[in-house]
Amino acid sequence: MESSAVNLSDYHLHTPLCKHATGWPIEYAQLAIERGFTEIGFADHNPMPEYFDDWRMLIDELPRYFEAVEEARQKFPSLTIRLGLECDFIAGREAWIEKLASMAKWDYFIGSVHYLPEGWEVDNPKYLARFRDGNVEEIWTEYWKVYAQCIRSGLFDFVAHPDLPKKFGFRPAGDLRRFYEPAVAALAETGMPFEINTAGLRKECRELYPSMEFLHLAREANIPLLINSDSHDPKELGAGFDQALAAAKEADFSSTLRFHQHARREVPF
Ligand code: ZN
Ligand code: FE
Ligand code: FE
Repeated sequence: MESSAVNLSDYHLHTPLCKHATGWPIEYAQLAIERGFTEIGFADHNPMPEYFDDWRMLIDELPRYFEAVEEARQKFPSLTIRLGLECDFIAGREAWIEKLASMAKWDYFIGSVHYLPEGWEVDNPKYLARFRDGNVEEIWTEYWKVYAQCIRSGLFDFVAHPDLPKKFGFRPAGDLRRFYEPAVAALAETGMPFEINTAGLRKECRELYPSMEFLHLAREANIPLLINSDSHDPKELGAGFDQALAAAKEADFSSTLRFHQHARREVPF
């Protein structure tokens, strides 16, 4: 990360417990210090009470997650390390998220939409054919409907990667603000922040999540944002932050947020 971004934290980091990431918190922490961060946070994919899919920690592994974060805190006391989770919003499973919230002194929960109601993940290459079959408009409509539910659930401190269904480069025709406007309205109504997630830069869409159009709408509605990498490897820590910061500034944002036990603090950048 360049010096221009010294006030940014990176709050969306995954660990090997989710089975598709590499690098333990101590490895991220070491690199974070080298790259000039003063604060980072872990947000691995939330466990479910039952076996749910193959890309999240098991409920029995939660203590190992806490230990790994604590180990990094002990080893690098100069770095502030926050404890979070990236939680899948799944209608009907809200009570489980509330239960998880009572299991630790969490700093933040990130609300994510990966699953659509038919039970498939919009970002899983396994389902690429669904986009190729020409259902892009329908997929986007479904996704943004669930995204607004996720925002309105009130279960989360901020929401993850808006615009995720563009991951593989499939976008509906026309002005995409028809999808963004209801989401921004839900954010405004609930006072919910969102993240600029730089992982999109590393995917086929080659674009930040969310797009510039979304950023402009969110700024007009005075929605707070964070900038996160969604790292699944320590080498991705802070990746794309210069581009994300430039996009945020272009849309006239001037601050980000930090969280401590769900209390938010605004930090200028
Ligand atoms: Zn992941
Ligand atoms: Fe995600
Ligand atoms: Fe993630």
